[in-house]
Amino acid sequence: MPANLATIIYLAAAVLFMLSLGGLSRQETARRGTLCGIVGMVLALVTSIWSESVGLYGIVALAMVPSVLIGAGLAMRVQMTGMPQLVALLHSFVGAAAVLVGFASYLDPGPLEGAALLVHHIEVYIGVGIGAITFTGSIIACLKLHGSMSGKPLLIPGRHALNVLVLLTTIGLGIWMVTTHDHATGIVLLGIATVLTSLLGIHMVMAIGGADMPVVVSMLNSYSGWAAAAAGFMLGNDLLIITGALVGSSGAILSLIMCRGMNRSLANVILGGFGTDGGGGPAADMPEGEVQPMDAVDAATLMHNASSVVIVPGYGMAVAQAQHALAGVTQMLRDNNVTVRFAIHPVAGRLPGHMNVLLAEAGIPYDIVMEMDEINDDLPDTDVVLVIGANDIVNPSAEDDPNSPIAGMPVLQVWKSGTVVVMKRSMGTGYAGVGNPLFFKDNTRMLFGDAKASVDAIASAISAE
Ligand code: NDP
Repeated sequence: MPANLATIIYLAAAVLFMLSLGGLSRQETARRGTLCGIVGMVLALVTSIWSESVGLYGIVALAMVPSVLIGAGLAMRVQMTGMPQLVALLHSFVGAAAVLVGFASYLDPGPLEGAALLVHHIEVYIGVGIGAITFTGSIIACLKLHGSMSGKPLLIPGRHALNVLVLLTTIGLGIWMVTTHDHATGIVLLGIATVLTSLLGIHMVMAIGGADMPVVVSMLNSYSGWAAAAAGFMLGNDLLIITGALVGSSGAILSLIMCRGMNRSLANVILGGFGTDGGGGPAADMPEGEVQPMDAVDAATLMHNASSVVIVPGYGMAVAQAQHALAGVTQMLRDNNVTVRFAIHPVAGRLPGHMNVLLAEAGIPYDIVMEMDEINDDLPDTDVVLVIGANDIVNPSAEDDPNSPIAGMPVLQVWKSGTVVVMKRSMGTGYAGVGNPLFFKDNTRMLFGDAKASVDAIASAISAE
């Protein structure tokens, strides 16, 4: 393909990626955004493969065909509850790719000389470093999200000093690597830096406690973008640079939004081990007392007779796949002139936007889905709040108990409403492993059982009324 044509197609793909991001920012336009992304990616792939620098099509096919089949198979089979770890795994692939591209382009830098070669070596070193952190950090995040590794933070004494030491050593090795003229020494230094930054990625994510994982997921998303941009610099591919920068910066903005949702500072996030130092007092006690159970028929009557109901979905709704049944109940209540709205916490579920995706999939109207900040002030005037499979995001100890691991995290103040109905299977804790005093409040009723079964039972009871 002529170079000029390739540049024009790359430009079109870059515009499509921007339109895609714009579209994905609102539920109404998300489908269009996804379509723009798919078209842009197909254009980018075809143009890259059809370029003059690619000759060995057999090898390209050998790499692409099995990966396309594996990727499509995984994406089709993955449950919504398994999505967070799949996303983390995909981030790790971007990191691994940046490391491999870095080594390949250090071994064969092409016709570069002098200052251009020096700049290339700097690109390689930075790209490999970001790639290695992204790779190992994402693998650990994937294992934590999958539950194969404990969500408890690993707190090595002097961990911040250790991180800084590793970082300074890596910078020192980098200066040595980019200035040495001995290729063999350079590759050894690059290898040592890869090991060090890989360990840094492991340590950074291991030090992060369960409740703070949302910020890590969005941060690794950002890192994967910067790793891709670095690969773009190494390969001299403008589209990869643009795409990487888009992913990197949108991931960074998402990290800021998640930080706000968790009330954490980004500086602490980047240093790792955040959210684990606060308090200093004894760990929060598990709340004790009597809970007041309720059955589905009483819950149905309560909601049917209410004038306003707010539904707070959480991770348990995704596990139970209760969103479609919930859409049915929502419609029944609205037909009965009950004002129904949904309250979405920024870190509900296990993935940014997890709940919005499920509610959109079930056809819940977008205009009744509210963000936490939009609805918190309305909760005192709400008759009934239905908490469906949510726990940490409605935990009052975040506000009341300075020793709680989630102290300071903004939460949905559901206890301020008339009556709270909490649907869950047991008295078990949520992802952060913190006891929840909400269950023992005077105006809380516990509706025990699988969320889907409970919502189905409520639907039958409402239709029988
Ligand atoms: P939580 O993990 O706090 O609570 C989920 C609750 O759902 C559990 O207490 C569980 O109780 C209940 N549950 C599970 N399965 C079912 C079922 N089949 N039917 C009914 N209930 C069920 O979820 P939240 O959404 O409230 O909070 C999200 C948590 O995840 C936060 O701590 C957040 O920091 C963290 N996180 C969020 C990420 C994100 O990007 N959004 C990423 C990583 C972590 P029981 O077992 O008794 O049924």
